[in-house]
Amino acid sequence: MARLIDGKAIAATLRAEVAARAAHLSYRPGLVVVLVGEDAASSVYVRNKDRAATAVGFDSRTIKLAAATSEPELLAVIEGLNNDQEVDGILVQLPLPPHIATEAIIRAIDPAKDVDGFHPENVAALALGKPRLVPCTPRGVMLLLGAAGIDPRGARATVLGRSNIVGRPLAALLLAADATVTIAHSRTRDLAAECRRADILIAAVGRPGLVQGSWIAPGATIIDVGINRAPDGTLVGDVDFASAITVAGAITPVPGGVGPMTIACLLDNTLLAAAARRG
Ligand code: NAD
Repeated sequence: MARLIDGKAIAATLRAEVAARAAHLSYRPGLVVVLVGEDAASSVYVRNKDRAATAVGFDSRTIKLAAATSEPELLAVIEGLNNDQEVDGILVQLPLPPHIATEAIIRAIDPAKDVDGFHPENVAALALGKPRLVPCTPRGVMLLLGAAGIDPRGARATVLGRSNIVGRPLAALLLAADATVTIAHSRTRDLAAECRRADILIAAVGRPGLVQGSWIAPGATIIDVGINRAPDGTLVGDVDFASAITVAGAITPVPGGVGPMTIACLLDNTLLAAAARRG
């Protein structure tokens, strides 16, 4: 039976560390989350981020804009936040309404305040092996591996999924950590064979139960980033947990694995951004 990697506990430890470090600062790190429109899921994420930031002692603020907000109006809000010396982190909650060009908005955020790590300058830094502000979920995966005592160095790591939010940055982080990295995706031939080669297998696809126990090398580490709603309403990952746990060496549950790490890393990124800006 695989050992469980307890993301909830590891995230709680990271949040407590962030709170302790923030308490020693002469200023309160400032985080502003911008929400455009009233998407129900986005509203919940934004509220959770705000609460978590307040709980660690940050000066946290949410700017809620109407769904009809124009792109120039949103750009003006971002410019104001870029120039506000009390603001260390800016996060624009995605997805944006279709009339707004997401790329233009991300480019407008000061890279030094880009706590989501999506600005092209931060993406380039990661691609060049010199990570600065890194996307929260991939960073959370790396911290989970570290906390579980799993060293990627020299290991065969396979990432399922190539999104800009999870798969690609995660592959870059694993490479920077000296893993031998394979990226598999929707066009990969024989996904099961790719998975079986992995010492560390990370699923970030969005298909419930895609990865079967029979796809897993005995003793492998399985990190399940997927969050999917099952027909009965429960949350499930991309990995068939019941069969995988009998083969793997270590595995993250869903919920309670990668999920809690994302917000904890957002807080840590905000602290890093504040320290880099304010010295
Ligand atoms: P996405 O839809 O942007 O990307 C999915 C990727 O999976 C694509 O690159 C695609 O090529 C690949 N893919 C699709 N079908 C495939 C198949 N059959 N076999 C192999 N690869 C396939 O999704 P995303 O934003 O990267 O999110 C992936 C999953 O992770 C989702 O379930 C999402 O909810 C979850 N997620 C979780 C967190 C977290 O905090 N834990 C954060 C972000 C995303």
